[in-house]
Amino acid sequence: MRSTWGRRLVKPGLLMLLVFSLTWLAFGCTDSKAGGEQAPAPRADSGAFNVYTSFYPLYDFTKKIAGDKAEVINLQPVGVEPHDFEPSPQQVANLYQGRVLIYLGGMMDPWAGKINSQLQKEGVITLAAGEGLMVNNDPHIWLNPVLAKEIARRICDTLVAADAGNKGYYEQNLQALEQKLDTLDREYRQTLAGLPRKEIVTSHAAFAYLAQRYGLEQVAISGLSPQEEPSPQEMARLVTLCRDRGVKYIFFETLASPKLADTLARETGAGTMVLNPIGGLTPEEVKAGEDYFTLMEKNLANLKKALE
Ligand SMILES: [Zn+2]
Repeated sequence: MRSTWGRRLVKPGLLMLLVFSLTWLAFGCTDSKAGGEQAPAPRADSGAFNVYTSFYPLYDFTKKIAGDKAEVINLQPVGVEPHDFEPSPQQVANLYQGRVLIYLGGMMDPWAGKINSQLQKEGVITLAAGEGLMVNNDPHIWLNPVLAKEIARRICDTLVAADAGNKGYYEQNLQALEQKLDTLDREYRQTLAGLPRKEIVTSHAAFAYLAQRYGLEQVAISGLSPQEEPSPQEMARLVTLCRDRGVKYIFFETLASPKLADTLARETGAGTMVLNPIGGLTPEEVKAGEDYFTLMEKNLANLKKALE
């Protein structure tokens, strides 16, 4: 299936051009907005080019670095849990028309690794932004701001490779992003260092890198993805652990079911709060203008409350 995607799409350029021209005539020169879930036609007027990302944190960092020089399109629709997500055949077809694809690599977006070399053969610049940064196949590196900086730097280099004319612009945006990540890291260190509790009971095992960075201990209900649910024996062990340690809050997520976190909280008399893995946004979060930084701030506030 994969190779036919590639081969069928080798020369659709002319047809696509015709379609885009007709769309252009029909709708005039209105700017298409990068909503994060739609695939707008490339803007012929500005020289902006399409950059696709596989899921939210990569989209957010890319958008912040690309600014108005590229059309950044997130393949993962709003409200979709990223571990579940695979692009549609139409989205894959669109990738071959784009200039850049940025994905993480590993278990988060395995479909991208499978078409990577075919895309490169067709002239698409690709980046597996997490390559070499992951430990034990755990994909959640963006939740450690230090690793997020490395991701951002790689994204910047990739944009420069695609569009060297705007190198200075991209590097300036990268610098601003790096500064924000440094500030976030400092805030996390200062806030969490003085708190008496260290264990965070999370919905799925998304916070190992964050826990390691700030000296916390992650106790996860599910595995590396929300689909890896615990056995009844494992749930019983978690109940005992939470009771023994007097855990005050069980964390749940916005895009995965809170069922197991609720059960554990009920069994142990703990409260529940959100700890957001920021793998994707809900429609409400998009509407509220949330991004990686606002959600990391909310996470820090809830961590503080749970560990005080
Ligand atoms: Zn996850």
